[in-house]
Amino acid sequence: MTAEKLSTTSTTTISTREAWLEAGVRELLPVFAKAGHDLPPCRVSCGFASTGARSGTIGQCWSTKASEDGINQIFISPALSDAVEVLDSLAHELIHAVDNCKHKHGKEFKKIAASLGMVGPMRSAGAGPALKEKLKLMATKLGPYPHARLSVPKKAATRPPRPRAKCMTCGFIVPMLKQFLHYGPPICPQDRVEMEAIGEWEG
Ligand SMILES: [Zn+2]
Ligand SMILES: [Zn+2]
Repeated sequence: MTAEKLSTTSTTTISTREAWLEAGVRELLPVFAKAGHDLPPCRVSCGFASTGARSGTIGQCWSTKASEDGINQIFISPALSDAVEVLDSLAHELIHAVDNCKHKHGKEFKKIAASLGMVGPMRSAGAGPALKEKLKLMATKLGPYPHARLSVPKKAATRPPRPRAKCMTCGFIVPMLKQFLHYGPPICPQDRVEMEAIGEWEG
């Protein structure tokens, strides 16, 4: 197979997520340019947002003010692995970079989003049908996103309530140390009556 044929029929395999995301930014650049927006330099990585792994946030962009060298930083959640979804989220975060995170999802954001063909509630604005087709072509060109979806439980497991003792006469509550649970609930210093065990006393 000639080199020429290779370049037209196969996509190169990008080995790291950052390199893939950077290539994604380069693919999105003309889309932004065509709509009249210059993309600032950005650092892009696969990583959880500051709202936490369980927040369900799929992307986050940080202002140049937050970054020591004044370059926007974008994180795409490890919960995303579909190339088109990743590009979609990346496009959304790049709008925040263009706006330098000044207007959150306000009308200034909306104006840029609409000019790119993004639709939906602005907080979760994503590609409309025309942009989606472009993202699909980009995804084909970029090849597989070198990542595997991390499945993160949405909610933290609820911890059992800590063992405490409560006086049913005055309402006084005192936390109990595990090593003294076998003593049983103490006597209320106010009412001199035995308090009641509340919370998780077992185990
Ligand atoms: Zn946003
Ligand atoms: Zn009491």
